[in-house]
Amino acid sequence: MSLPKSNPERLVSAGVVEDDAAFELKLRPRQLREFIGQEKAKEQLAIALEAARNRGEALDHVLLFGPPGLGKTTLATIIANELDVGFQQTSGPALQIAGDLTAILTNVREKQVLFLDEIHRLQPVLEEKLYTALEDYKLDIMIGQGPAARTHVMEIRPFTFVAATTRPGLLSSPLRSRFGILLRLEFYTDDELRYVVERSAEVLNVPIDPDGAAEIAMRSRGTPRIANRLLRRVRDYAQVRGSGVIDRPTAEAALKMLEVDAHGFDELDRRLLRTIIEKYDGGPVGLNTLAAALAEEEDALEEVYEPFLIQIGFLDRTPRGRVATRLAYEHLGLPMPGRPSLF
Ligand code: ADP
Repeated sequence: MSLPKSNPERLVSAGVVEDDAAFELKLRPRQLREFIGQEKAKEQLAIALEAARNRGEALDHVLLFGPPGLGKTTLATIIANELDVGFQQTSGPALQIAGDLTAILTNVREKQVLFLDEIHRLQPVLEEKLYTALEDYKLDIMIGQGPAARTHVMEIRPFTFVAATTRPGLLSSPLRSRFGILLRLEFYTDDELRYVVERSAEVLNVPIDPDGAAEIAMRSRGTPRIANRLLRRVRDYAQVRGSGVIDRPTAEAALKMLEVDAHGFDELDRRLLRTIIEKYDGGPVGLNTLAAALAEEEDALEEVYEPFLIQIGFLDRTPRGRVATRLAYEHLGLPMPGRPSLF
């Protein structure tokens, strides 16, 4: 299948995207038609983009949410490309004081895209500052200190704010209400991920056959970032141990060596399920207890690991804590309590 190639060089030379790995940048689709899957979000966005272009106005503010690696940053850059406007990127944790935000907002160019990743980590005082900027393109600035301090209202240029979060539930409702377009990104199907792998292989000039691509896709936890990462590792293996071409046997052997199993679980996924089952009788176990037992951050478990395990039905999130499901026992080959053991 022949897919259009992206043109990352332009983004790099324009200094538009700063801190992403060069590799991800290279594989990042530039236009909406190159962006695979997410049909619902894409349709909604395509309509909004066309309407904004026809009116010659800045696009409504956009909130992108979903687990990491599903294409939020990619979509933000695509929005800027499609509108042919500038793109600037920052993140919630990077903005420490009000001055940081003020500096960015006073420098925005007309209709440009300002992308804020991890908006749920934005400090509450900065969040409040954003409200008027997003609603009326105005900014309250304090001039002077102490009793002599005055607020000055400053006009800023109309711009499109695109924010991304892995935790939409943590956003306050006043903040959420500032976004006109809410796009939820879902895990990708195996077929969609096969296209992602084939497209990336084409960009990277890696020979791959459809079965090899399907094998990588199947083990990518519904996530393009993981699919691209595995493709790179399998390519290395194919070049060193095989003929250089990625077919199914080569992909299988490489993924086995990487300890990526049939569901794409890595060592921590297995350890997480095993801990719930073996240490806590299958659960329920609270997130903080589980994080401590695994010596991992709660946020990483909740944002990165759990969503996929829940999606494929291996884990349940209940009010009393996390519970391993029958599928988890079966996958790990462990007997389920209260049932006759088959093992
Ligand atoms: P997020 O911001 O949600 O963590 P990114 O936008 O950084 O995810 O995407 C991670 C990588 O996955 C990017 O390098 C991009 O090439 C790839 N990717 C994501 N979504 C798609 C897609 N729909 N089609 C093709 N590649 C994708």
